Amino acid sequence: MKTSRTWTLLGASLLSLAGALLLPGCVREVQPTPANSENATAFIGVNVVPMDAERVLEDHTVIVRNGLITSLGPSATITVPADAERIDGKGRYLMPGLADFHVHLHSEEQLLSYLAHGVTSLFELDGSREHLELGVQLKGNSALGPTLYTSSPLLDGGPPGGKVVSVRTPEQARVAVVKQKNAGYEALKVYDNITPEVYATLVAMARQQRIPVVGHVPRTVGVEAVLRSRQALISHGEEYFHSGARDEAGIAGLARATKEAGTSVVPDLVHIDTALRMLTDLEGVFADPEARYLSPEVIRNWRFSNPTRRVDVAAYAERERAAYPFVQHLTLALQKEGVRLLLGSNASDAGLFPGKSTQLELAELVKAGLSPYEALSAGTRNAGSFITEHVDSAARFGTVAVGQRADLLLLPGNPLEDVSQANRALGVMVRGQWLPREWLQKKREKTAEAFSKR
Ligand SMILES: [Zn+2]
Repeated sequence: MKTSRTWTLLGASLLSLAGALLLPGCVREVQPTPANSENATAFIGVNVVPMDAERVLEDHTVIVRNGLITSLGPSATITVPADAERIDGKGRYLMPGLADFHVHLHSEEQLLSYLAHGVTSLFELDGSREHLELGVQLKGNSALGPTLYTSSPLLDGGPPGGKVVSVRTPEQARVAVVKQKNAGYEALKVYDNITPEVYATLVAMARQQRIPVVGHVPRTVGVEAVLRSRQALISHGEEYFHSGARDEAGIAGLARATKEAGTSVVPDLVHIDTALRMLTDLEGVFADPEARYLSPEVIRNWRFSNPTRRVDVAAYAERERAAYPFVQHLTLALQKEGVRLLLGSNASDAGLFPGKSTQLELAELVKAGLSPYEALSAGTRNAGSFITEHVDSAARFGTVAVGQRADLLLLPGNPLEDVSQANRALGVMVRGQWLPREWLQKKREKTAEAFSKR
C-alpha cells in the first residue's frame, strides 16, 4: 500500500519558527540548544543506560560537543567544561535515541513526530530524490529531524509505472543497480515480483557495487533462496509467511538459516496489528490523538488506501490473522538464534502514525517475548551496527559511549524495566542538539494549527 508523496514547504516555516523561539525573553529551559553550536552540553549525575550491555551506570556525567559524546564517567571524575549547558540528570536515565528502520516519510513535518517520540534515526525504504536531499540537510543540521538513511525506490518485475523501477531482465537489473548506487541511495529495495534469474543478477551486481539489498522476499524466489543470497535485510517478518513458510514447525529452521545468512530482520508486528484493528474499527484508528499532526494529504491518502478498501478484504483479514501469531513466534525464535532484529514500523502507511508506531512496535517486541533490553537493542545498538556493517563504516550511533553520535533520550524512569519509558523523554538530543520536550510539543502544536486551517 503506497500513498503518494505530499512534500510541503512546511519545513522551511518550521525552521524560521525555530529561529523565533531563540529570541531572548523565552523561558530558558524550553529553548533548544542551537544546532551546530561548538558549546558543550553536560548531562550531570544521570543514570546512563549505555545499551552496550544490559547495565545501568549510576550517577554518571556525559559531555557532548560538536554532535558527539566526548566524555563519560562517574560524576566525581568528570570536569564539566565552563561553557557547557548543564542539564540535571539526577534520578533520571539517559539512553540512546531510537532508530525506526522501516519508514515511508510522506512529508517533512513527520520528522517532528519522530523526534517527539524519541526517534533520532530513520531508514526510508522507498526513497526518492527529495529524501536524499532531505538526508543531506539533516546531516548538516540545516533541517531539524532524525538522521535519515534512504533506500532506492522499489525495484520490481512489473511494467514501469509510478516511481517503481522496473527490472524484468538481468540487463535491466544490472543497469538499475549502478544507477541507484550513483544516485546516492544507501540500499536497494527489492519487491514482490522479481524473477529468480533477475534477483540473482541483482544481488551479484549489488555485491560488486557494495550496496546492500533490503526489502521484501520476491515471491517466486522464496525465503530460502533470499537467505542463501545473504540479502542484508528482510523488512517485514511477515515476508517469511507470505512467501509460503507458514508452518510453525519450520520456524526454528528459518531462524537458523537467517542467522547463518547474516540477514537482519524488521519484525514489523505493529503493521499487522494495525491492519487488523483497521478492519474492525477504521474510524477508531484514524481518530488517534496523533492524527492532528499528520498533513491532511496523508489522511486523505489513508482513506483511499487502507485494508478495508481491498477487493480481497475477507481473504486478507484471514491471512493477517494467521500471520500475526506466526510472526510473533518467528520474532522470538530469531532473537534466540542471535539474528540482528531491527525496530521498524512501516509508518506512515495507513494507520501507522510516525513515532507513535515506532513506540508501539517496541511494545510489540516485548509482547512477542523479547526482554526490554532485547527490544531496545533492536531500536538502538542493532541499528547502529547494521549501518556500520552495510552502509557507512564510519557511522557511530546506537550506544552511549565516547565517540558516538550524540543522539540521546533523557527519561524519567529506567527503560530496562519498562520500555514505555522510552516514550516519556523529558528532552531529546539529536546530533548534539538538545530539544526539551516542552519546546518540541509547542512546535508540533504550531504544525497541527497550520494543518487545521488547510
Ligand atoms: Zn514499507
